[in-house]
Amino acid sequence: MRIVLVGPPGAGKGTQAAYLAKNLSIPHISTGDLFRANISQGTDLGKQAKAYMDAGDLVPDEVTIGMAEDRLDQADAVEGFLLDGFPRNVNQARALDGYLERNAIRLDGVLDLEVPESEVVRRIAGRRTCRNNSAHTFHVESRKPKTDGVCDECGGELYQRSDDSEQTVRNRIEVYHRETEPIIEFYKQQGLVVTISALGPVHEVTQRAMDALRRDQA
Ligand code: AMP
Repeated sequence: MRIVLVGPPGAGKGTQAAYLAKNLSIPHISTGDLFRANISQGTDLGKQAKAYMDAGDLVPDEVTIGMAEDRLDQADAVEGFLLDGFPRNVNQARALDGYLERNAIRLDGVLDLEVPESEVVRRIAGRRTCRNNSAHTFHVESRKPKTDGVCDECGGELYQRSDDSEQTVRNRIEVYHRETEPIIEFYKQQGLVVTISALGPVHEVTQRAMDALRRDQA
């Protein structure tokens, strides 16, 4: 299966993507994770991306599209993939369409995670992320780790992402409305969008997503 995951920051895209990719046996490809890996390795690409990410802005398409296509070209993505955080604007969606066409493949669905705005700010401002694995996330109120600052899943150190501060979050939400939401309409015209609510316990949202994707394929 070839799936794109869309949703505002804090919708739980990373968490859901990890579970869905595992259930569907496809790689989870997150452009945010790719950028963060480049930043921690000190690459040129990471240096180019950092200031944009810290401000909550989109990294320019010239950098992002090439990076995403290089990742899609890797062997593990030949049979399918779950894209998390790409495309993030209509230009990127068009570039992805071009890539798919050149490779004679198609998307099977675009899963749109819906969550009210008030919940988005609450989720992100209290979010703590594991340094080892960004899909391991906790919340200072609603999902406390057993030991403060330590990931329950792997023992990694929990930290607050530098772009999870309240001010940056507000900008990321604005950027989402302005740049990313239009891709939902773009994909609706291709009949690809499946919308589900991202509220409730993590495993329930995963189940909802799996059911919706299955119904869509039936
Ligand atoms: P995420 O981990 O998906 O929340 O992404 C974190 C940040 O990485 C975003 O706020 C952007 O600055 C940058 N980023 C991730 N994916 C993209 C993309 N497809 N286009 C531009 N910037 C991106």
